[in-house]
Amino acid sequence: MNNISDIIKFCKSINRIVIYGDGNIGRTVRVFLEEQGFKVSSFVVTNIDIPHILMGVEVVSINDYISRISSNAYNSIGVIICMNEKNIEGAKKKLAEVGLNSYFIVNDMLFQQIFIKSNFLYKYDKPDKKINTLMYHRVGSFEKDPFELAVDDSTFEEQIKHLKENYTILKSDDKWSDIDEKSVVLTFDDGYVDFYSKVYPVLKKYNVPATVFISTGNIDTYNEFWWDELEKLFLETSMIPEEITIIDDKFLKDDYSDNESLLFAVHKVLLSLPHLERKKIIESLKKQFNFSSYKRDKYRVLTRAEIVKLADDPLITIGAHTVSHIVCDKENEDVQRREIIESKEKLEEIIKKPVSVFAYPNGGYNARIQKILSEFGFIRAFTVELGCADENSPQYQIPRNVVKAWKGKKFESAMRGMFTAFKTI
Ligand SMILES: [Zn+2]
Repeated sequence: MNNISDIIKFCKSINRIVIYGDGNIGRTVRVFLEEQGFKVSSFVVTNIDIPHILMGVEVVSINDYISRISSNAYNSIGVIICMNEKNIEGAKKKLAEVGLNSYFIVNDMLFQQIFIKSNFLYKYDKPDKKINTLMYHRVGSFEKDPFELAVDDSTFEEQIKHLKENYTILKSDDKWSDIDEKSVVLTFDDGYVDFYSKVYPVLKKYNVPATVFISTGNIDTYNEFWWDELEKLFLETSMIPEEITIIDDKFLKDDYSDNESLLFAVHKVLLSLPHLERKKIIESLKKQFNFSSYKRDKYRVLTRAEIVKLADDPLITIGAHTVSHIVCDKENEDVQRREIIESKEKLEEIIKKPVSVFAYPNGGYNARIQKILSEFGFIRAFTVELGCADENSPQYQIPRNVVKAWKGKKFESAMRGMFTAFKTI
């Protein structure tokens, strides 16, 4: 009792269909059932690192799935086991353990029939968008990393090695036509010194191209980005005032469980402001904190000499990221134009080459900013929206996927997920 009419009968007999297994068998069955008019509510798996969306359906661990189902709904759930034969016994045991008794096994024979009958290959054999731009900020170890910008050295090298061995690596300013293979573009935002000291040596070692988007305002200085200054104020200062004033708002230290939550609250307000206003507020905060400045080597941006060396290597593309790391859509047109063109011209003057790619600081953009980029001759701009691109994607809205300090299998599955998670069905 295990043929196509049996699986259809099974699906008709239950209210909620769950597929156990998110590999090729599960995906094929998912497409087949959809073609037959059945809706699959979830993919479940025994272990998962990062829950995600696959072909428009969530993928969650079976324990998480069960934890949110009320016990009287158990009877309405039917599980379709979609695994290699050697794993089926383990899956049955797991189902018994969590109390799901209604299941159907797709064995090899049935899988072959379903595979032939469904349009899986036509629809899903290859990802529809093959260009996955990864977004990094910093590499190294930092005592504090409240905004989770850093990947440690050894994890970073492991990630680059995996990417080199498994994906085609493109440049941000490549042509991007006829891309048949799953491809990755590496980008690093802001232009911190660790791009030179930590990232570049690894890129060289594995012969991997990458782009660094540099905010030019702090080149050759020890001035820090505004969020780093805030972090310094709130997490390195021993004396935080009981009450902080930002414009007309008061922040009471007692209202927050710790300094970090207070930092996040202030950060959120500042992020929504034009940069000159933000600058003024940070100066006022420094006064309120009685703060005397000191320099931190790890927080500076690249020097002119470092940028020249990087740009001399064909592996490295230098991209613009405004002068003051403005959130572009929060500024007026004059500021937008000035910040974009000045950063481009400054970088071009340093590297003696055209700068043609741009990343929106904090992902802020709108139609007017895209028009400015096109006037100034940029060929591509990168957002912080999740997803993958192809050669037909709008050139000033290339999505990017954030990389965290994921190791081993977790990184591998996160990478696979990025290519499949955004498909629509
Ligand atoms: Zn940035």
